[in-house]
This record gives sequence, C-alpha cells and structure tokens, in this order.
Amino acid sequence: MSESLFADASKRLARAMKYVSISDDALEYLKYPKASLTVSIPVRMDDGSLRIFQGYRVRYDDTRGPGKGGVRYHPNVSLDEVQSLAFWMTFKCAVLNLPFGGAKGGITVNPKELSKLELERLSRGYIDAIADFIGPDIDIPAPDVYTNPTIMGWYMNQYSIIRRQLTPAVVTGKPLSLGGSMGRDTATGTGAFFVIETMMAKFDCPPQQTTVAVQGFGNAGSVVAELLAKAGYKVVAVSDSQGGIYAKKGLDIPSIRRYKEANKGLQALYCEGSVCNIVEHEIITNEQLLALDVDVLVPAALENQITETNVDHIKAKYIFEVANGPITSAADRVLEAKGIYVIPDILANAGGVTVSYFEWVQNRSGMYWSLEEVNQQLKRKIVAETENIWKISQEHAIPMRTAAYAYALQRLGEALSAKGTRHYYAS
Ligand code: GLU
Repeated sequence: MSESLFADASKRLARAMKYVSISDDALEYLKYPKASLTVSIPVRMDDGSLRIFQGYRVRYDDTRGPGKGGVRYHPNVSLDEVQSLAFWMTFKCAVLNLPFGGAKGGITVNPKELSKLELERLSRGYIDAIADFIGPDIDIPAPDVYTNPTIMGWYMNQYSIIRRQLTPAVVTGKPLSLGGSMGRDTATGTGAFFVIETMMAKFDCPPQQTTVAVQGFGNAGSVVAELLAKAGYKVVAVSDSQGGIYAKKGLDIPSIRRYKEANKGLQALYCEGSVCNIVEHEIITNEQLLALDVDVLVPAALENQITETNVDHIKAKYIFEVANGPITSAADRVLEAKGIYVIPDILANAGGVTVSYFEWVQNRSGMYWSLEEVNQQLKRKIVAETENIWKISQEHAIPMRTAAYAYALQRLGEALSAKGTRHYYAS
C-alpha cells in the first residue's frame, strides 16, 4: 500500500465528523499526534557485540487523561505504525469512557531471534530511553503484539530503579506478583467475546448455528476462540503466522491451545485426559482462512489483512476486528456495499485496555479485585458501550465503525472544548 497507515486511519475521522457537533479547533487538534519520541537503544548481545535498536513512543492525545497503550515488538514496527496505533488508542479509550488518552510504543525487532537475557536488556534499555516520557500520570505502557507480563515486569522494575520509588501504576499487564490484575491476560479475548455475544443476539444468530474462523491464535485470538467454542459456536478454522487449520465439523479449541503452548504450532486435535487424537482437518493459509464461507470472521493478528486486493473474496457475514486495524478504509467501503457487518477494533478489542484501567485503579488504591469482579465490571462496561454504539448506528443508518468514531469524537471534542479552544473563548 503506497499510502501511509496513518493517512488511511485518519479517513475514519473524516467520515465520522458529519455526525457530531464539535468545534473545528478540537477537530484540528485530533489530526496530529501530541508528541512522538524516536530512540536508539544500545544492547550488548550475548556474543559481546553491540546492536542498536530503533524504539518509539507516541502520545497521540492526553486531553481526557494520561496516554495509554501497549508496546509492540515486531520487525515491521515503524513510526507510522506506532502513530496509527496511538491514534486508535485515543478513540478506543474514549469509546469505553476510560480516563485516558491514547499512546503506543514499539521496537523494530524480531524478538524470536533474541535470547531471554538480550530481550531483558533491550526492554530495560527501552525504559531507560523513554523514562522521561512516561509515568502513572503521563503515559502508561502495556503489552501488545509479542510483549507479555514478564516484559511489563521488567519495565516496571526498571522505571522504579530510575525513580528510586516502587511505581506499579506506570505500566499495566504486569505479573500478578508485581501488582498485575486478575483477568488482564485474557481481557482482550474476554471483552471481544462479550461484544460478539451482544451483537450476535441482535443479528438473531444462535451460537449452535453459527460458524466462526479466527485469524491469529495469540493472546487475544486463542482466548476468544475458546470462549466462543465453550458458548456453543462452531469454530471451524484458526491460524497463526505459520498458517491455519480447518475442520468443517468444528475444532476442539482447548486441545489446540494446549498443543500450541507445548509445541509452538497448530495441530487439529481432540484430547481426552492425556490422550490426544489428530482429527480430520485441512491445512489452509491465512489468505484461505480469511476467504472461508463462515458466518463470523475474527481477524485477531495484525493490521492490513483485508485490503482492496482480497476484499472481494470475503464471504463472512460479520467481522469482529480483534486485531488493531485489520481492514483498510478502501476495503471497508467494499464490505459495506456487500452488506457485511464490521464491528470495529476500537470497540471489539477494547477489553484489554479496559482491564488495564482496572489494574491502574487497583495499583493506585492498593485494593485488589477478584477475577469475578474484574470480569463483571468489564462485561458491564463493554456491553453498555456496544449498545450505545449500536443505537447511534441504527439512528443514522451508518456502519458500527463510523458510529464508534462519532461517539468517541463527541467525548473527545467536549473535553478539548472544555479545556479552552477558540470556540470557548469566543463565547
Ligand atoms: N495493546 C492493547 C491494545 O491495543 C492494550 C493496551 C493497554 O492495555 O494499554 O488495546
């Protein structure tokens, strides 16, 4: 794609503007990231050589609260990508009415090529480089693609060493032993499941008669696949970066999850006790998974998966964006014309940041919640906002994505105006 990811992401804003009454000044603010930091991170490798890695942190907007968003470790990380992800975080936090702005970070690296000690030195080096740019009231990192609680623990520890003060609220998604929240590890998938349940009831699709394909079997995709299967949905295909598996009769997701954890790959299995049998299945590519004739498609991997080049092959009736930005704006228009419903990332995958918010609240209050409490609060919040966005989309006869952006824009616009824009001074 020749156009930048950010230019494409911004188009969603332009479309939603028509449905809200916010000041021109507020809109102007929201077209640009507030601050972007690029850093070089020197890392002493295990063989004694020195490597310099590129890292980024972008705070897109902090009108409604400190910046919030994960840190991604991936070979394709660029400033353009981090900026787009920070933009999405801004709208995601506003959709869920969390007292946060939007931010994101990333390091251009293939973490699978590093030893654990190299990964730790890189992670601590990243915090050394961005320490003045983050803080519990400034900007709060969290996990994203290929980062996890262990890395968040290193971040928190490194930041606390720099500040000479234990500061758990500077990062979320930490291990439980360092102030992490119950349910944060499964929050993105759990939140997505609540959104899917809410929407599928409106579409009058009973689980037992609904087939699902999930692209991406990581932290979000594997959890949502398992919850859907448990609720009676027929999950017929899943994939990871290596490719996918398809079984018309449906897959046994818990068995596949266990296999993936032990062997780092996918295998269509059915396990009872410790005995696992390989079930009849087809090996498919990610491209084929996206084109399956299923009711529900869940892209839960990376951005730019459904584009102008493959959108004509999509046969699913409902798409839930559990990844950030899996559909380009051009593909969006084609899906809309085909009558395919898209439930946008800024709602469908907001469960992760919502429980991050709960973690931050717990760190600051010193009171810790049970898993039941966390999941109950998550459900209450994400179902209520799904209903609100559905109402807007019905009222104006617009897609859920445009409705979600309009809804978030209203909250952001009001906050920006209250802070004092030209509109405020004029009146
Ligand atoms: N990386 C996740 C996201 O894209 C979670 C961010 C957070 O918890 O701050 O929403």
